Amino acid sequence: MNPDLIIVGGGPAGLAFALSLAGVGLRITLIETHPDEELANPPFDGRDIALTHGSKRILSGLGIWERLPHDQVFAIRDARVLDGHSPYALEFRHQEAGVDALGFLVSNHIIRRALYEAVSVTEDVTLQTNQTVSSVYPEQGSVTVTMCSGESLKASLLVAADSRFSSVRRRVGIAARNRDFGRAALVCRMSHQQDNSGIASECFQYGQTVAVLPLTNQSSSIVITVPTDRAQALSEMTANDFSEWISAKLDSRLGSMDLISERFVYPLIAVLADRFDGPRTALIGDAAVGMHPVTAHGYNLGLSGQQLLAQAVLTARHQGQDIGTPKLLQQYSQRHRRVVLPMYLGTNTLVDLYTTENLPTKILRKALLHAANHLPLIRRVVTDRLVSH
Ligand SMILES: Cc1cc2nc3c(=O)[nH]c(=O)nc-3n(C[C@H](O)[C@H](O)[C@H](O)COP(=O)(O)OP(=O)(O)OC[C@H]3O[C@@H](n4cnc5c(N)ncnc54)[C@H](O)[C@@H]3O)c2cc1C
Repeated sequence: MNPDLIIVGGGPAGLAFALSLAGVGLRITLIETHPDEELANPPFDGRDIALTHGSKRILSGLGIWERLPHDQVFAIRDARVLDGHSPYALEFRHQEAGVDALGFLVSNHIIRRALYEAVSVTEDVTLQTNQTVSSVYPEQGSVTVTMCSGESLKASLLVAADSRFSSVRRRVGIAARNRDFGRAALVCRMSHQQDNSGIASECFQYGQTVAVLPLTNQSSSIVITVPTDRAQALSEMTANDFSEWISAKLDSRLGSMDLISERFVYPLIAVLADRFDGPRTALIGDAAVGMHPVTAHGYNLGLSGQQLLAQAVLTARHQGQDIGTPKLLQQYSQRHRRVVLPMYLGTNTLVDLYTTENLPTKILRKALLHAANHLPLIRRVVTDRLVSH
């Protein structure tokens, strides 16, 4: 039987969207390249995802937050930003925001596993795993998707959640702008002698940036961004050499450090689709906007975007209307873009500022950090964003 809705991509955005629409009588088919076993037991991929309070609320609403093992959810109490080799820091404190923690860290594979567990027992969702899409054909009142198995499905709406390099986006003719930073993020977990005090630090150094995201008191998730060739070299260093290198880059603030996970390298390419709607199609997650990870907004925007689209679909459904009209999809696209665009442009500007190392820019970097520390309004905007969205 044909579904009402087809989702392509069973990553954290596609799975969350399927759950958002479960239980209302919509028949949903989710197409995913990976096999069931991999979705059920996704391997650790080095990504510890910083989630805002808004994302926690969305995941709670889907029954996912409660499924996350308690000892795998880590609080980010405070945050600070450092520039160059100076110990001076721009501070964001949880007390100022009136909360116990500014945000939470959960490993990507733990989120994916919890989402898959919930989706796999949802009757409304049919999983087509080990499948890719070989063609997409939008018509007046429906869209036909053919899978590599040769089977075709017709639905009222197609939702692309198939990563920042979305092939569905391309197939339906939605253009996207890529920004290749020529850099890569190396991510891993490390233990350390000194307590991290639950503080997330972003150190914009010269030549690299190093983020320390607190897990337990004496272990942290480390994100290093460097030119791509250096990321490869760092990932090939012996564990001892690498641990010494990173400890030195952090001026031994965490004492001696030890690598406790594999190292993973992600090329840094940001992508923004020109529109998030197309004929009978909507883009969510990284397929709509793939962010540079420095501001940790990627999945947070993925969650808020899928919620926005789900609400529009649910309203249409309750009113007995078509769930794939151009008006509904355009409204979703415009609303989500209003949130996404300032984040996307702001993040890229920040990256440009903190990867440019001529003298005037170095002076500007320092001046901005000091100014922000003395302007409570700026700090308030950032903490509000973490706490209320
Ligand atoms: C180093 C790093 C750190 C990050 N840190 C943070 C953070 O702290 N906070 C935060 O909010 N975000 C963070 N992010 C971003 C976050 O990881 C992404 O935004 C999120 O994973 C996107 O989810 P998605 O489901 O849209 O896409 P993906 O995770 O890319 O999943 C896409 C899915 O689609 C499937 N697929 C692809 N093509 C097809 C096809 N043709 N047919 C069928 N299936 C297909 C893939 O197999 C995959 O399962 C980080 C990213 C990186 C790289």
